[in-house]
Amino acid sequence: MTRTRAVALGVLAVVLVLAVRYFVWIDLGTRCVITIRPSLVGYDNITVKRALETLRHGSPDDYRKICAHVGSINPNPSCGGFGGGCFWHGQDRGTRTSIDVSTEHGLIWTLAILVHETCHATQFHEGRPAGFDHEDECYNADHRIMRALVQFE
Ligand SMILES: [Zn+2]
Repeated sequence: MTRTRAVALGVLAVVLVLAVRYFVWIDLGTRCVITIRPSLVGYDNITVKRALETLRHGSPDDYRKICAHVGSINPNPSCGGFGGGCFWHGQDRGTRTSIDVSTEHGLIWTLAILVHETCHATQFHEGRPAGFDHEDECYNADHRIMRALVQFE
């Protein structure tokens, strides 16, 4: 192996380790892989990972739904009315969706927003049309998870 090649491999290894640390959620046990997009504005991918970890232990049902319906998470500043998340209709219905999640209010809010947007992703996959007011169901979902996890913290 030439020196140049060794350096190149070293750099590649570092890039891979960083990519796995920040930009991918990999759970081999449940074969759940979710991309976490790089955020240009400093929002926090590690908080997203801690939220996923907390849900995995604290609410396996919600975790399973996230893995089933969400393929990538986009940590972003607040968008939409619910202090934090967005679900964009018009995605490909045949694949897992992408959701926007704000991490600026800390861990509990981040995971509540995850659950809320996953609720929209589930509605979307079940074929419920955009434009209907399906917010109640999703607000109930995030209230439920917040109550459950704050109580048991
Ligand atoms: Zn909503």
